[in-house]
Amino acid sequence: MGITSGKTGPIATVLLLALCAGLLAQEKARDRRRYLDPATPVSDDPRRVPVPPGPRGPDGSLVLRGGRIFDGTGTPARSGTLVIQRNRITKILAADSTDWPRDARIIDVAGKTVMPGLTDLHTHITYTEPNVSTALSVSESDATLRGLERLRYYLECGITSIRDVASLGEVPFRLKEWVSENRVPGPRVFAAGELITGTGGHAAEGLSRLSSNYGSIREASGPDDWRLAVREQFKRGADLIKLASHFSRAEVAAAVEEAHALGLKATVDAETFYIQWAVEAGVDSVEHPLPRSDETIRLMAQKGTASIPTLIPYIYIFDQNGGYFGSTSRRFTFSKEADLEMLRRLRRAGIKLGVGTDLILNWFRYMPDAYITELKHFVLAGYSIPEALVAATRTNSEILDMDDRLGTLEPGKLADVLVVDGKPDVSLDDLAKVDLVIRDGYVVVEGGRVFVPRHVPIPPPKPKKD
Ligand SMILES: [Zn+2]
Repeated sequence: MGITSGKTGPIATVLLLALCAGLLAQEKARDRRRYLDPATPVSDDPRRVPVPPGPRGPDGSLVLRGGRIFDGTGTPARSGTLVIQRNRITKILAADSTDWPRDARIIDVAGKTVMPGLTDLHTHITYTEPNVSTALSVSESDATLRGLERLRYYLECGITSIRDVASLGEVPFRLKEWVSENRVPGPRVFAAGELITGTGGHAAEGLSRLSSNYGSIREASGPDDWRLAVREQFKRGADLIKLASHFSRAEVAAAVEEAHALGLKATVDAETFYIQWAVEAGVDSVEHPLPRSDETIRLMAQKGTASIPTLIPYIYIFDQNGGYFGSTSRRFTFSKEADLEMLRRLRRAGIKLGVGTDLILNWFRYMPDAYITELKHFVLAGYSIPEALVAATRTNSEILDMDDRLGTLEPGKLADVLVVDGKPDVSLDDLAKVDLVIRDGYVVVEGGRVFVPRHVPIPPPKPKKD
């Protein structure tokens, strides 16, 4: 760009510089990857940290023989056999082929549907349940146990990845690591850490040390503090950044710019004009079906901003409480019908839509019905059933920034696979019939139950000889 051209006047130069600054601020998280050769082994998360080369996943091969393959790419289910070696899908064979390694473990899945593991893009694995004291709510020990229980629920429902968008302290990061080392059962955890919001903003209304969500929320004030709050989550190990209104334009712009520079996506829980400000700042996705203008929806479509409508928590709120009361961050009129209409408007505008459930309180106990009902609302909004399943798998992986490794059944992808005893691409209710789940090549649910292999003992040390 000709900024140094002698003919450019001072005003034009200032304008050009401002334009360049604007363009830089809109750099995406993924732009950071230009410095990483695709052949360089990196961590299987959006952080993409270089790791030593070497085989990953269990020894040997696993064959899912003769099932209905719904691969998540958008093509209809077809009969075939899926071959997994260690933690990767290596082949999808025609139904009559037996071209797999001779020593493979073979599981007959005839009549069952083999599909990519599901993703839930909106969880809070440590949030408290009703009738739990504040002292226990903010206890990292109790939060870890709550998280462990929820991970099991999600896994049993065929969910192999969760995106956790606010949880207590170090807990989601420790659980992420223990799951990835196969030491506790669970889906992959992609965690935001604390939710960042303006002082007294959403989730921080009345926040104090005596609040049950203390330690899951980071109040910030001023652009520098928003930037610092992003760095704090990155330091802990964040895979994405979660923002919430309220904020100033400068605050949300600083946070998004910092997240992108660190290689992370930013998602926002916001409403009305705050959504406009966040989208202008380059935020990658917007949570919830809350009110926004046609202009904002157009801008989302234009900039490729995704949306995770999360209708189900609001259905529970309206059904259980008759309304959404007492919140200063929800000062607008909305309803179940308005939420569904927002989903329809977003879909009509061509916005990328992902699936998340936001099951706070004890609502995870409504799984898998909660997740299936969310998908049924995608169908009510105009999706076909297979399209809803693609949203729950491939599109969710795109929103996660993991679509090069997850979300479809294709050779080279990580082996996160769900086997359902039915045809969920015909009837979503069949998603409740989870038979087998494979995460990272490991069988983690078998016969519908979490499968924990017996530990392999290592021999005790031999006495030293003098
Ligand atoms: Zn939430």
